[in-house]
Amino acid sequence: MMQQYFALKREAEGCLLFYRMGDFFELFFDDARQAAAILDIALTSRGEHDGEPVAMCGVPVHAAEGYLARLIKAGCRVAIAEQVETPEEAKKRGGYKALVAREIVRFVTAGTLTEEALLEPRRANVLAAVCELRGTIGIAACDISTGRMELEECTPESAGAALARLGASELVAPEEWDAAPEAAVARPRHDFASDEGEARLKSLHGVATLDGFGNFTRAMLAAAGGLVAYLDHVGRGTLPFLQPPVARTGHATMAMDEATRSSLEILSSQQGGRAGSLIAAVDRCVTGAGARQLADDLGAPLLDRSAIEARLALVHWLHDDPLLRADLRGVLRALPDIGRALGRIVAGRGSPRDLGQIRDGLAEARRIRDFLSAKPDRPALLEALLPAMGGHGALVDLLQRALVPSPPTERSQGSFIAQGYDAALDELREISGNARRAIAALEGRYRAETGIAALKIKHNGVLGYFIEVPAKHGDILMAADSGFTHRQTMAGAVRFNSLGLHEEAGRIAEAGGHALAAEEAHFEDLTARVVEARLLIADTAAALARIDVAAGQAERAAEGGWCRPQITDDNSLAIEAGRHPVVEAALTSSGGKSGARTGSGERFVANDCVLSPDDRLWLIGGPNMGGKSTFLRQNALIVVLAQAGGYVPADRATIGLVDKLFSRVGASDNLARGRSTFMVEMVETAAILAQAGERSFVVLDEVGRGTSTYDGLALAWAVVEAVHSGNKSRCLFATHYHELSRLAESCEALSLHHVRAREWRGELVLLHELADGPADRSYGLAVAKLAGVPKAVVTRARSVLDRLEQARSETGGIAAGLGDLPLFAAAASAVHDERVDPVRQQLDLLDVDALSPREALEMLYSLKRLTTEREP
Ligand code: ADP
Repeated sequence: MMQQYFALKREAEGCLLFYRMGDFFELFFDDARQAAAILDIALTSRGEHDGEPVAMCGVPVHAAEGYLARLIKAGCRVAIAEQVETPEEAKKRGGYKALVAREIVRFVTAGTLTEEALLEPRRANVLAAVCELRGTIGIAACDISTGRMELEECTPESAGAALARLGASELVAPEEWDAAPEAAVARPRHDFASDEGEARLKSLHGVATLDGFGNFTRAMLAAAGGLVAYLDHVGRGTLPFLQPPVARTGHATMAMDEATRSSLEILSSQQGGRAGSLIAAVDRCVTGAGARQLADDLGAPLLDRSAIEARLALVHWLHDDPLLRADLRGVLRALPDIGRALGRIVAGRGSPRDLGQIRDGLAEARRIRDFLSAKPDRPALLEALLPAMGGHGALVDLLQRALVPSPPTERSQGSFIAQGYDAALDELREISGNARRAIAALEGRYRAETGIAALKIKHNGVLGYFIEVPAKHGDILMAADSGFTHRQTMAGAVRFNSLGLHEEAGRIAEAGGHALAAEEAHFEDLTARVVEARLLIADTAAALARIDVAAGQAERAAEGGWCRPQITDDNSLAIEAGRHPVVEAALTSSGGKSGARTGSGERFVANDCVLSPDDRLWLIGGPNMGGKSTFLRQNALIVVLAQAGGYVPADRATIGLVDKLFSRVGASDNLARGRSTFMVEMVETAAILAQAGERSFVVLDEVGRGTSTYDGLALAWAVVEAVHSGNKSRCLFATHYHELSRLAESCEALSLHHVRAREWRGELVLLHELADGPADRSYGLAVAKLAGVPKAVVTRARSVLDRLEQARSETGGIAAGLGDLPLFAAAASAVHDERVDPVRQQLDLLDVDALSPREALEMLYSLKRLTTEREP
């Protein structure tokens, strides 16, 4: 057995091997250890190998799906080795001790799932392949749950942003490629051959040239080759559903790199989940397919004004007609996920239920088309979508006639083909129906004949049909001439057979077998018909998703009083009374934040942002917690929402198309990402300075904070100057460095703004309101007090501050230039003690995550000792 196991394990190429043994999938050796830890199941052992006990764990086959889901979530890939013959067949083949033959029947990997239970309904599941060809990067991506496929070529520098947009759950790359993304699964180099890729796509779609689908470069085709080869490998030769590829050029969508996406929390929050993200605050889609389309839209805002306007016009139409919108959403809500049902069917993993979903979804699509076609003033985008929703008359009709109203997920039991569809099948069912009735009649007859009222005819999987009487009556039927033959004696009952029962049961079994075979044949036939229509069905699914997105956007806009943005081709950005959708939603739902006192009470304070070529950089000061980050991000999010073709949380918005969006948060604000290093901050800032242009929008939050005050100020200063005079991008720059105000003197397109705060009866009141001009002071101490820093510490800080300010006035004013920052010279000496503080040094060196609880405790003791030693 071990020999067979090792052969399969080699074939599994690094995947965990699920080795079928009877009712269990067993895992051995390291696989077992890994799986047992992830699944929290018992690790046992079995036999010995090389003198060591073999570690083993197992999961029951009927519950395997749940365990698979958890393993996939934990980043594993799994190969399923099934028994491909029965023990009887094995015996026949190889004698009494023959081993049942096993084969890997499929691989389960994060990027190649189709099972409803393993997929998230509102998230696309992307598999991507990436490779390099003569200095350019090719990327191929698909979502096999719906068949979508796209190819992209980019430079090595922009590859990161392209992959970030895709958010693939699994990535493959050629082996031995130095620049391969860390998480990528290594695949043979020869899989990534462009001619092979091209040939595969051509044969897949039955075309002589791919030109009809778009312009594909060699790098794109090489990546496509790698992708299809991997799918082939994982599917053991059966390819999943792939629609014709779409070529994506970097110029069609707004560029956003990984850091920008994560800092703006577009599809997931920095904590990792959907909660707290932009999409969670915006998504009002009523179908999973709509939600997936919306995620796609928000992840790839458009650059083409007319395409954006087309989407906006549809949202507008639905926004202005609440009754129509409500009706439409009501119907959409009931739609099955036909895109994913189709994905399963084409991949050969479809069920009768999936066919039923296709039937219902297509029928519903036709009704929606009829309903919308009757409405006046339809926007152009809708007109373009409607034809895709009605072309399936014959198929819908066929499926409606063929299938029962709610077909089961299990196909081996039959009972999914409707009465009246196939006369021969009906006859077989009639025969078994009659036989069942005959058996029921037999029961009555036998009771009368034997006088045993408790006699029953029963059925189970082992014996089939049998007659059962309580033990005390057993003798009556045991009599030689009773006509009954004994089959089994139980504790309280005896079981018999009879000639009559045997015959009727035979009829049922035979008719049942034929009926099952007939249903199976129909299933194959119906599946083939659906597969034939796959591209049209995929179009229908896409059209419905697009309509759902628009209706959801309209709903969200109506709910929040959002406006339709004006899109222009110039470099302006004018947002009146803008709001942050996530922060606003959080305030509304919690009924306002407790704790910190805000001048706004419980409500979100709307703010304007007006940038133009000669006032393109806003430097925003004001106290911590004053609302700077919120303001920065809300404007970036409004741009994303607008260019994704939706309404925006503002009273009015004019948006000059943004080609690249950058958002960065200074290192110390960024601890949650677990990359606290100042290095990361600078790498990210460098990327902006290298890439941002006049059409870009840059949002920088406290950049320069992750290092000493002195360096930080200097860097912030230089970065602002560079963005202002070099990149010339529209930019919002939040800082608590007061001194940066001086930049207004040398940078003509820079203006000063601040979030307002007031001290009232010794308490700080944050107004969250943006005002013109520099912040009058930093309010740092007031914020510290608000945050509950002990009074003694605040008082001490106040006295240090006084000394600093005194030093400042003595040296005659604040920073006159970067070479000469007297304030900081004074500050350096005033806080000198703090710099060499041994406790602080210890803390700086500490890697908290690396400590065991015991080490942590010891560290605390040692820190405590240090402080007591220092105390006079
Ligand atoms: P800063 O960047 O200035 O430190 P934040 O933008 O992080 O401040 O805001 C701190 C908190 O203040 C937010 O979490 C939010 O609860 C609240 N806040 C920010 N802006 C507003 C606003 N415009 N209206 C109401 N509350 C706001």
